Amino acid sequence: MNNLKLAGGKREKTVIDVNGTLFGGGEIILMAGPCAVESREQVLQAAADVKKAGGKVMRGGVFKPRTSPYSFQGLGPAGLDYLVEAAREHDLLCVSEAIDAASLELIAAKADIIQIGARNMQNFSLLKLAGSLDKPVLLKRGLACTVEEWLLAAEYIMAAGNPRVILCERGIRTFETSTRSTLDLSAIAVVRELSHLPVIVDPSHAAGRRELVPALSKAAIGVGADGLLIEMHPEPETARCDGIQSLRPGELLQLAREITHLAAALGRTYPGPSTKAESLDYPEPSAQAETLDTLRGQIDLVDRQIVALIADRQELVRRVANHKQVDKVRDGAREKEIVDRLGKYAAELGCSADLVKDLYHVMFNHGVRTQIETKLAGYTSCTGAK
Ligand code: PEP
Ligand code: MN
Repeated sequence: MNNLKLAGGKREKTVIDVNGTLFGGGEIILMAGPCAVESREQVLQAAADVKKAGGKVMRGGVFKPRTSPYSFQGLGPAGLDYLVEAAREHDLLCVSEAIDAASLELIAAKADIIQIGARNMQNFSLLKLAGSLDKPVLLKRGLACTVEEWLLAAEYIMAAGNPRVILCERGIRTFETSTRSTLDLSAIAVVRELSHLPVIVDPSHAAGRRELVPALSKAAIGVGADGLLIEMHPEPETARCDGIQSLRPGELLQLAREITHLAAALGRTYPGPSTKAESLDYPEPSAQAETLDTLRGQIDLVDRQIVALIADRQELVRRVANHKQVDKVRDGAREKEIVDRLGKYAAELGCSADLVKDLYHVMFNHGVRTQIETKLAGYTSCTGAK
């Protein structure tokens, strides 16, 4: 295509660096969050969930382009502040949609990535304005636009001086009504042929219901997408916008586990859930009759979870050493407080408080040894001693 002077042509993929997060490299980038920012608490909780799942970018609309003028239009500037605060709190980047010149200025000033939505993909004055800024743009494909029109929209932004365009396929209108839109997976492969720009997939707006989101996400990665933009909500039943297609936190976590395996099989990477315990698959409880073998099988799974949790705890204990003096590693008052608190919790769960006390006795002794070793290793490297 002759007109794709900047968005097309080049052979090797462009990697777009957004404050250290690389789009179009080997890593699959997860961007997730609610359709709309609804309150400070909602986005803080959602950001914690996104981080847990290994996400890199928090999404949340504050200027919502709604089909009906009577639907919730977003919280505006106050919502943007909540989104940015939640993202920073959890060391995430954030993306939000601009719908006109005024919202573009606000989003560009505060968010890390500007989203231009499907309904504005051919708003050429908005594209030119976004092209005049030094901020990456996530450009969604229009609901009834061809791949060529989509790439020409990217060309508008690039021709105006902004090379950092990330494309996003989000489904198109077809005769099919069983999904909200039809996810055009072929478009990913076609874009790969025609353009060097990174391309991600939004399975949520394509599917229109959460049940389909995991399958479409995995298909998108299979066909070569560089990342996913997924709607999730801490409590989708209460969402003011697109709750039906929003994953629950546990569902996002499960999808993250699956993506980790899939990425590895395809020679790509996904950081995976942020702790070892959360990386473990939790199989559905079996409907089989209970036997010695089925019970032992369940115990084996629980044991894996216990060891993964101990590994997460040990990692934290090691880091705590940096905040202690070598002669003040043991903290008896803290140990007593933990054992008392967990003893009560164990009793509430019908578990022996003595068992918890004995386990923690072993854990504390091991932790103290690890912290002293960590500190001594730090001293020798600081002083240069062998
Ligand atoms: C969105 O991502 O919130 C959105 C409105 O999506 P789209 O522009 O793809 O409909
Ligand atoms: Mn939405």
